[in-house]
Amino acid sequence: MPEAVLRRLSEPRESSDEFLAMVSHELRTPITAILAWSEVLDRQYLNEATAAKAVEAIRQSAQLQAQLVEDLIDYSRITAHKLSLKCRTVSLQPIIKAAIDAVTPMALKKLIELEMDFVSSENEIEGDVLRLQQVFSNLLSNAIKFTPTGGKVSVKLETRDGNSIATVSDTGEGISAEFLPFIFDCYRQANLEVDRHSGLGLGLTIAHHIVELHGGTIHAYSEGKWQGSAFTIQLPQKHPGHKISWSTAKLSDLW
Ligand code: ADP
Repeated sequence: MPEAVLRRLSEPRESSDEFLAMVSHELRTPITAILAWSEVLDRQYLNEATAAKAVEAIRQSAQLQAQLVEDLIDYSRITAHKLSLKCRTVSLQPIIKAAIDAVTPMALKKLIELEMDFVSSENEIEGDVLRLQQVFSNLLSNAIKFTPTGGKVSVKLETRDGNSIATVSDTGEGISAEFLPFIFDCYRQANLEVDRHSGLGLGLTIAHHIVELHGGTIHAYSEGKWQGSAFTIQLPQKHPGHKISWSTAKLSDLW
């Protein structure tokens, strides 16, 4: 059992029960879809289009399940202080581009415009390519998930005072002032009772930890509900220092 689950079990009964219920629900959803679609595939008279749809649905559900398990494993590594980086000198542009490529199908499905603005080309840092890609993929997929059809998601990369600064912003549902200070806490999701989205509420906790391991900072900004959101990552361009500062502020403070 992942250590995160064990840790939660040692916490008050109510929250560990809630957590187990959430994990079971999240793990069961893709399994139910895989079982249902494999039964469809088993039918004798199946046209090509339906078969292709079934295979795609099974693939997507398996990917979702793998992502959930990866998040649980990463979180247990973090709590055991065992998450390490394989750092080398890397440029941020191709890392961000790869993350954008990975989420493009998701954006296309929702007719969301994806915009890139690489203001600076000097963005070499000491970093772990796969872990940084994981951070940007998480921010981008959240931006798409929480932005309604026809919205816009932008990524800006610039250099300031020897730091690379990447901002992922969206025109989506925004973050309430009450939730904003807790957004990087584990198992946190806004509107749990009203319209819970899929996910374990671990993605931003993991992203924060990875950025911190790189000697960087991550901040969230939003003017409030339906005002869009922005996440800014600051990474030192040369030797990472480990001074981490946390803050949340309004979008207007950022521009
Ligand atoms: P999950 O995988 O469950 O979405 P995350 O840690 O990635 O977990 O996000 C936690 C919560 O933060 C989300 O459930 C959502 O409530 C809020 N959130 C994250 N990104 C955004 C965004 N771009 N716009 C609005 N809310 C967001």
